[in-house]
Order: sequence, then C-alpha cells, then structure tokens
Amino acid sequence: MSKTFADFSLDATLIQAIEGLGFTTPTPVQEQAIPAALEGKDLLVSSQTGSGKTAAFLLPTLNALATEEALSSFKDRMKAVTQPNILVISPTRELAQQVCQDAIALVRHMKGVRVAAIMGGMPFAKQIQQLKGAQVVVATPGRLLDLVNRRQIKLDKVDALIVDEADRMLDLGFSEDLEAIGELAANRKQTLMFSATFAPRIVTLAERMMNNPLRIAIETGHSTNTDITQTLHWTDGFEHKKKLLTHWLSHESVDQAVVFASTQEDTDMLAEELAEAGLSVVALHGAMPQTVRNRRLRSIREGRAKILVATDVAARGLDVPTISHVINFGLPMKNEDYVHRIGRTGRAGRTGNAITLATYRERGKIRALEDFLDARLNVSEIEGLEPSPPPARGSRDGGGAGRGRDGGRGGFGGGRGRDGGGRGSSFGGGGRGGDDRPRRSYDDKPRTERPAYAGGDDRPQRSFDDRPKRDFGDRPAPRREGGFADRPQRSFDDRPKRDFGDRPAPRREGGFADRPQRSFADKPRSADDNRGNRVDYKPAREGDRSAPRREGDRPAPRRDFGDRPATPRREGGFGDRPQRSFSDDRPKRTFGTEERPRRSFDDKPRTERPAFGGEDRPRRKFND
Ligand code: AMP
Repeated sequence: MSKTFADFSLDATLIQAIEGLGFTTPTPVQEQAIPAALEGKDLLVSSQTGSGKTAAFLLPTLNALATEEALSSFKDRMKAVTQPNILVISPTRELAQQVCQDAIALVRHMKGVRVAAIMGGMPFAKQIQQLKGAQVVVATPGRLLDLVNRRQIKLDKVDALIVDEADRMLDLGFSEDLEAIGELAANRKQTLMFSATFAPRIVTLAERMMNNPLRIAIETGHSTNTDITQTLHWTDGFEHKKKLLTHWLSHESVDQAVVFASTQEDTDMLAEELAEAGLSVVALHGAMPQTVRNRRLRSIREGRAKILVATDVAARGLDVPTISHVINFGLPMKNEDYVHRIGRTGRAGRTGNAITLATYRERGKIRALEDFLDARLNVSEIEGLEPSPPPARGSRDGGGAGRGRDGGRGGFGGGRGRDGGGRGSSFGGGGRGGDDRPRRSYDDKPRTERPAYAGGDDRPQRSFDDRPKRDFGDRPAPRREGGFADRPQRSFDDRPKRDFGDRPAPRREGGFADRPQRSFADKPRSADDNRGNRVDYKPAREGDRSAPRREGDRPAPRRDFGDRPATPRREGGFGDRPQRSFSDDRPKRTFGTEERPRRSFDDKPRTERPAFGGEDRPRRKFND
C-alpha cells in the first residue's frame, strides 16, 4: 500500500502545510528520500524535474527546524550575522526563487522561520536585508560566496546542505564554488545532493562533499513525464518554423505556452513578432535585468501573459500548471535541457504537449536526443505546412536530391535566402506551405503519421496574413539588411552553410548523423548560460576548469585550491583582493574595482522590506 505523509514523522505544522498545498500522497522520490533524510543520512538522489524533489529535500530538513531552539531567539538572530541552518544551493536564479517559494509555503504554519533567497542580479543592500536572521537560505553559488566575503553570512552553523541539480551546477562551472561552500559549511550534519543522473562526475563530486551517501535512483535513463505528448515536426528552416509556431500558438488547445529559442536574439525577435501578431507574449532571457525577468515570470504565473518566449534560462524552475504547450523553436544545447524544457508542461497531474521544430540538418541532434531519451519522437506534419522532402543521404543538403531543403534554389546567399525568404520574416504564412516554398510532389514523400491537429479546415484561421508586412526599418542592421540568414549568432544548424568556410570539410559534409553529441558542446554560443548571462564561449565540459567567459570579462586567473586555505581567502577582507565579481552567481572570477565591497550595511538606514520571508515573519523596524 502506498504511503501517506502521515507515515513520516514530520512536524504537525509541515503536515498542515502539505495538506494546504493539496498533496495527498508522496511522490516516489519523496517516499524514498524523506524517511532516509529524517534519519540523518547523506543522500545522492537522481530524479527528474517535476518529480516532487523539492519537497523531498525541504520537508525532512525543515522538520529539524521545528525542534531547533534557534526559533526562539529571533531577536538575537536579527542582530548577529546571518547563520542559516539550512542551505540550498541552486544553479539558476529562477530555480532558487522557485525553491524559496516552496520553502515559504511549507513553513507557513511554523512560527518564526525566515526563508531568504539570494542570487545574482539583485541589489546587494536589499539582499542583505532579506537575509537577516534567515534560518533557511536558498542561493546561487556566486552570490552566496560574495556575501560570505562581505561577512554578511556565515555558513558555520549550516546543519543541512542541499545541492539541487548538481549536474547543472557542474555544467555551469560551479564545481570549485561548490567545494568552497562545502568547506565553509564543514560543520554540517547532513548533505543531500539531487541530480538528473549519476554521471561519474556527479559521483566524484558526491564523494568529495558527502559522507558515504545513500543512493536513491528514482528514474533510470532520461524518461520524460508520460503525461506529455511529444511531437517532432521536420521543417525547412527558420521561416517554416515560424509558420508552424504560429499554427500551434493559434490552436485552441493552448492555454499557456513556453517557446524556447536558441539565442537571446531569436527570443527577442520571436516575441516581438508574436506580439505584433496580436498575441499576449513576454520574452525572457539572461540579458535582461533580474527585476524585468521577475516581472515577466510573474505575468506568466498569474496568467496575464499567455506565451513566454525564452532561452534555456526558463527551462528549470518554472512551475505553472496552466502551461499546456512547450514549443522548442530552437533545439536545446544539451539533451538534458530538453527534458527540463518540456517539464514546464504536464505539471501537477495535467497533460501537456511538447512540440519540437527541427531541420533535416539537425537530424543528428534529434537522433542523439532520441538515444538519450531512449524513445522516438512522434514525427508529425501539419497539413499545408509539410516540409520539403529530406535530402538524399550523402548529398549535401539537397544538392544531390535536387529538391532538398534549400537546395536547387540558387544557394543560400542569393536573393531568395532560406525558406524562399528574402521577403522579411512576418509570421503567418498559411496557405500550402508558404508562397515561396518549392512545390513538392507528396506522392514520393515518405508518409508520416497525421498530426493530432492536422486541422486543415478545422485549423483556426489565422489572421496574420492580412496584416501589413513588417517594417524592418527599426530592426538592428544585420537583421534588417540580410534577414535572418545574415544574423551572426543564429544556430548554425538552421542556417545555410555559406558561413562555414572555416569549418573542417568532414564536419560539413558528413552531417550530424555521425556525430551524435559533438555539436552540442562545440557550437559557438551566444545564448544564455542558464544563469541568465550572455555567453560567448564553449560550454565548460567535464574536467574543464576554465570558466565560461562573459562579455566584457577579462581572463580569469585559475583558482588553485591546492594551496588555498579557504577560510583565510574568503574571510581575509577585500584589501588584498584585486578582482571582484560582477558576476551574479560566481565569486571572484571577474574583475574591476568599481564595485568595491561596501562595508557594513548594518548601520545603513533601511527602507525596503524583504520580498521573501513568509507571512509569519515579525516585521523589523529598520530605523531601530
Ligand atoms: P519539483 O519536482 O519539486 O519541481 O515539483 C514538481 C511539482 O509537483 C510542483 O508543482 C510541486 O508543488 C508538486 N508536488 C510536489 N510533491 C507533490 C505531491 N506529493 N503531490 C502532488 N504534487 C506534488
């Protein structure tokens, strides 16, 4: 018989909060992790997003707070430097905020517990205020270490350290920061680490940070939520993708949707065009100030906006049950990100739709993704928006096939451009496959399944055809002049190959089919780094200790942990620290002296109230 929450020896206030949230039975990860964590064991847990893992680590650790004498000494805590009992490390700001909100919901009936989220992109002074007296801190690593350096938080009283999405943390180059945090929180009694996989690098990290952890594997492989219908549309390219996007977003089954783009530039452009087409849309990417990001996420959460167009910065942590569709306009950099992206739908027991738009050139990536998922994506077509036939195997994108995608149409650089474009980029299309697309014979095309929404007559009529063609006059020069084909930062996979002159021939000719994973790692990027920072670098790979570079960064010196007594270095003040961090999430890697650490904020007049902290939190008078 399946367990109930009452089977765990959780404090009554937590049970009350769980009931308030409408959780009736524990999820598998909760069923296994909660009792083991309550016994005080270190845990290494592999579980997917949407599995209920947040409550799995929050409930047992928050439970200890119910009995801590720390709760009674609120005034003392407010006066002293913040020394949390529970510390959750999260790779992204969005996830940190989500976990913080979950924690606040769970301590709702527990008097005197203060929860704070600290993350890059927020003003230090405000964050320090929020932090005061918090027993539960959810943080991104860089900002946390910055605040340690500023002596605004000490980790010596951390009893439970939780590393959420450890795999992502390593992807983002946080392994040194994690080790530093582990050293600073050396007095802890328990460490819980959650990761999508037990990859060797995760196991190595766990061995370094944990004490004989119990392994709990909830999902083997990379299975996705079975309540999500996954569909793949082959496309001819960018313009064709936009037509399919329009089709899907106009569909009556869409409640709310997240459209993932590969780059910040695409994100802005798509959002702009969808908004012009009259849709309720907000864009989100890492080049935006955190306040704007928060505001836009709120408008999605509260249902004021229907469509979110985002980079992978929104792939994790966004928990909005009314998101009915996820559309991968651009493929994710990593297969794992696909799982996270589509996990934005099908939440809280609902069904969801995940639609992926890919070009034939990306078939290698799709195959690699399917291998990763150990499943085939259901290929579908929309009547009137079918793709051109795939290029013959071994041909160079249609050259041999005569009619392959873009092939036989005068090359990529010519006046027509990709997709028969060269006419601007307006949404809509409609008709049978767009005006300029070559007419194809459907008879020789390998038939695939009819789509669920094959529509034709039933398809909602789009009105975009009627709207005036967009004026590109206000668009940045590269886009304006050359259309999308000339845009410097777009996914190479979608683009004609004329820019690839410096790429080695075998890569070009062999296609992606033979290189299942390569292109994810080596592809030049200008996308977000999932912490929301614009990056122009190759993503750090396992074992690669070099940090991702952000725009404007100077080369960072390598941090040598071999001879680093962590504490002196972190606590030794700033006088001897030549370089400081602009970084939101990483410590001391970036430079400049402009943002010299402020000194004590304690004597500063306070005006703002912390955003986080639960309703039960006694209000401070900052003027005191
Ligand atoms: P997570 O994997 O932590 O991101 O959680 C995914 C979603 O499941 C969140 O919306 C949670 O509120 C929800 N959730 C967590 N535990 C349960 C439960 N036992 N029953 C129902 N929903 C849950």
